[in-house]
Amino acid sequence: MEANEKKQLELDKRYIRMAAIWAENSYCTRRQVGALIIKDKMIISDGYNGTPSGFENVCEDENGLTKPYVLHAEANAITKIARSNNSSAEATMYVTASPCIECAKLIIQAGIKRVVYSEKYRLEDGLNLLKRANIEVVYIDPNE
Ligand SMILES: [Zn+2]
Repeated sequence: MEANEKKQLELDKRYIRMAAIWAENSYCTRRQVGALIIKDKMIISDGYNGTPSGFENVCEDENGLTKPYVLHAEANAITKIARSNNSSAEATMYVTASPCIECAKLIIQAGIKRVVYSEKYRLEDGLNLLKRANIEVVYIDPNE
């Protein structure tokens, strides 16, 4: 491995750890996911899974199922940029779980060029869609 690649891997590991810490903000009980968007070595946005602003901080219904209006961490991070003066074009997203197909669509349209994730999911359609859009997809084992 070249020095630059090694440096990038170390950076990727650190950001993915930060995303994992950020996931702890989620009040969802079934699953906690965190996402960071980095551009030019700056964190320009962050997100974790949860209900929209102004809604009760409860993700699951009385049967323990996730409410249909819960936003994924990636969607929260991307929509936070929509309310800011930043642009996600050419940015990198760090997310603690493999993106689903709905989030993959948002990531593509947000102009994000690289996605680093740390937890594999049985469905790979989100990852496949990202790859089809020529987005670099990197898996990092959080326990390594
Ligand atoms: Zn998603």
